[in-house]
Amino acid sequence: MTRVLTNCFVYTGDATHRCIPDAAIRIDGGHIRWIGPRGALPTGVDDEAMDCQGRVVMPGLVNTHTHGGLGLHRGVCDVGDFQAWAKVLSPHTSTLTIQDNRHGCELAVLEMLRNGITTACDCTRYGADVFSEVARTIGMRSLSGALANSPNLRSAGRPNWPLALEETKRALERRGSDPLCRFYVGAHSPYNCTPELLVEIKRAADDLGLPVVIHAAENRAEIEIVQQRHGCRPIAHLDRLGLLDSRALLAHCVWLDDDDLARLARSGAGVSHNPISNAKLAAGIAPVPAMRRLGIPVGLGTDSTLSNNSLNIFQEMKFAALMQRASSLDGSLIENRDALAMATLEGARAMGWDDEIGSLEAGKAADLIVLDLDHPLGLTAERVMSDLVYAAGPQHVRHVMVAGETVFADGRFTRVDEGEILGRIRRHYRS
Ligand SMILES: [Zn+2]
Repeated sequence: MTRVLTNCFVYTGDATHRCIPDAAIRIDGGHIRWIGPRGALPTGVDDEAMDCQGRVVMPGLVNTHTHGGLGLHRGVCDVGDFQAWAKVLSPHTSTLTIQDNRHGCELAVLEMLRNGITTACDCTRYGADVFSEVARTIGMRSLSGALANSPNLRSAGRPNWPLALEETKRALERRGSDPLCRFYVGAHSPYNCTPELLVEIKRAADDLGLPVVIHAAENRAEIEIVQQRHGCRPIAHLDRLGLLDSRALLAHCVWLDDDDLARLARSGAGVSHNPISNAKLAAGIAPVPAMRRLGIPVGLGTDSTLSNNSLNIFQEMKFAALMQRASSLDGSLIENRDALAMATLEGARAMGWDDEIGSLEAGKAADLIVLDLDHPLGLTAERVMSDLVYAAGPQHVRHVMVAGETVFADGRFTRVDEGEILGRIRRHYRS
């Protein structure tokens, strides 16, 4: 089936940040076949035509780090730094069942799609395939898996290794060929995993040809713990154990010294920057300009609704820019194109998925969002990019398309009944 979108202002999100004021996009199945000025659209008969009524079209937003399963616990703890927070939430998260996980994932996927997020990297402790199952049903793309930990270092809950690996292998068998689903093998962190487990996880990931996802260098206490145990900082520790390469995705990377930055840049690893979570948990401000100057791919992540408490990449874009400027007193840091890149193509690159998603270009997946943006002076590239970073939000998202299929339009999901899902979850916990 082919479909053509016309009468739209497109921010392509490609390497040059090209904008096309009066654009047309021809979609064939799940992919973009042609994109350019409407006047140059090659003639052809399309099965469906969509008039975007002058709205803005941009690539679907990419959330490089979240924990969908914790979606039930928004607002459980809004006070305290990372250590205090971890203590408060431990009784909640260590008793989560697979069904709780599924309910949380449903809430998270609904919220993310509404907010224009079309791809997310999800992390859980049990049920490595739950997020992907929920996401593909509602119509979202995912990189999913479970973060393993060593039971002697993390006492709460049952051990999850090699369970996480078994779950991931089963998920690969079931959904490995689904274009919406990709998987990774995960480790919780350098402080919650022994060196032996980290090496085992990396070996399993390599055997399966999958990425490794891990939290790293999130806060100062972690640096001290790893330094004390292993005589080096977390990034050097991971590097020495062989975990850093272009298939690694590291969440946070707030506390980096020059040696850490050099190791990350050499390795090709991607970083998920979670500015709001890091600020809320008093973890610090990641050296994003330094990372990006060295060519380290940096994507944006929301983290969970426990530490944020919303799954909103528009907010992360704005926050990422404002935090760098406020802390450095340098107003030139994080231009609009930088924030937009992190929210789209660079996030996709950090996840190893930029061959298919992150920008609107011929041959790539048709993952896009249509926004109701207007500017009193008219839309130009500068105004649109500025609005997307500083003024836009979920309230402007009118239409969400994933792999060429409309999954959300004018406030309604097309594949599922949102009211039914929310009612079911409400009844489950309130009865
Ligand atoms: Zn996390």
